[in-house]
Amino acid sequence: MVKKHLWINGKEVQTEDYSPLYSPYTREAIAEIAVASKEQTQQAIKASFDSKDGFAKMPAFERAQILENAVTLLRKHFDEAAEIITNETSKPITFSKGEVSRTIETYKFAAEEAKRIHGETIPFDAASGGVGRVGYTVRNPIGVIGAITPFNFPMNLVAHKVGPALASGNAAVLKPASQTPLSALFIAKLFQQAGLPDGVLNVVTGPGRTVGDALVEDERVNMITFTGSTSVGINIRNKAKLKKTTLELGSNAALIIDQNVNIEKIIDRCVMGAFSNQGQVCISLQRIYVHEAIHEEFTEKFVEATKKLKLGDPFDPETYISALISPDDLDRSLNWIEEAKQNNARILTGGKASRNILEPTIIQDAAAELKVSCQEVFSPIVTINKVFSIEEAISHVNHSRFGLQAGIYTESVTNALLASNKLHVGAVIINDIPTFRVDHMPYGGVKESGTGREGIRFAVEEMTELKLIVWNQN
Ligand code: NAP
Repeated sequence: MVKKHLWINGKEVQTEDYSPLYSPYTREAIAEIAVASKEQTQQAIKASFDSKDGFAKMPAFERAQILENAVTLLRKHFDEAAEIITNETSKPITFSKGEVSRTIETYKFAAEEAKRIHGETIPFDAASGGVGRVGYTVRNPIGVIGAITPFNFPMNLVAHKVGPALASGNAAVLKPASQTPLSALFIAKLFQQAGLPDGVLNVVTGPGRTVGDALVEDERVNMITFTGSTSVGINIRNKAKLKKTTLELGSNAALIIDQNVNIEKIIDRCVMGAFSNQGQVCISLQRIYVHEAIHEEFTEKFVEATKKLKLGDPFDPETYISALISPDDLDRSLNWIEEAKQNNARILTGGKASRNILEPTIIQDAAAELKVSCQEVFSPIVTINKVFSIEEAISHVNHSRFGLQAGIYTESVTNALLASNKLHVGAVIINDIPTFRVDHMPYGGVKESGTGREGIRFAVEEMTELKLIVWNQN
């Protein structure tokens, strides 16, 4: 069985403990993964700390070139990268390939962004006390970044942290999700080949509590960038004190469908939004509010299309839905479906599991207080509810502790404007599902969906410190 070690200072570092990594689909062990101790995490932090000043001095064009080299290497190892993702997550291979393509684009954006990190001049004489001064801002790297990532996009969400960190001259310690260490270790080695100096990027595998706490509590770490669940995010924020944090957390993303929308045109997008990656997407389509005029027709066609999805082996290119990430997540999802059933909601399709695969499940008339509505399902479950006006739909969407993205399909400019003004989320997507994301757009939530923004330029802003320089000419 392949054994994977920590990656510190450009070398593999062995640990005392290793734990088996299981395929979510076959439940067979696929690797033995190093379990880092607190001391080893501190060793990785030291490596980043010791390399940060040297790396901060590297000219922008050289940092950009390293990122470009990583892009070239990733293109070369495209299929291997997709297989690693499928192996550790059971993401169907077609979607894993999609993730690798996006990862390449994310690092490409980072390479480009490395060349345009700059401040602005300030018109000091706009204040009577500022006459005779000129000044400008500069953006400096923040230092050492602790990056903690989730399992669901193990390569591209790592890229959303490592890409901007390196683009802006920071060193990083990466702690990937315990279920997905392989993608992270693969990328770290790729960066060494791309010319990244040893010590700038270190990868520490092991439980969130040990490794995460060591990162969050260490004074040499200047910022934590975290993507994951709201509960862990709040825990990190509480421990981080004055340390800068970016938190990209969960949601129960919603879509509004207005009357007069061409249903045929939107069904495939809705299926993709609700069920791709088994619904394990932070902006997965979880709640649909459909105008009563087309509610019945939409529901019928959506159910029909969903029933056609192929379930099975994630390595089969025809597979659309495979295993959930863990048996616990499967049990939790089945319990939530059961709760919905017991409370007069109707299961229109799905609701059952075979092996570790949950059938794509559509639930009608689930009340707002049920878990399938108000919590993050993070599995292939979607609810449909009838509404009588766009105002009513907006109030349902906003009745949530989360606020990441929301979508509205409408032919009415008035309703699109109303939705864009009234929806309390990080992004309103007009005439598409809330699941829409490309990697350079500002991305992040309000309410319990988090704080801060990713999308390379916006992450670079988070990962740099603004300094003002004032020249007195008097
Ligand atoms: P998770 O359980 O919160 O884990 C995320 C990361 O945090 C993992 O690396 C985990 O390590 C680590 N962790 C666990 N406990 C920790 C602690 N006490 N201190 C520091 N780190 C700790 O989330 P997940 O199940 O991997 O991912 C699913 C969640 O991510 C969903 O809620 C989803 O919405 C969210 N997500 C959000 C976005 C976004 O951009 N907003 C994108 C993708 C996913 P272990 O694996 O070792 O426990």
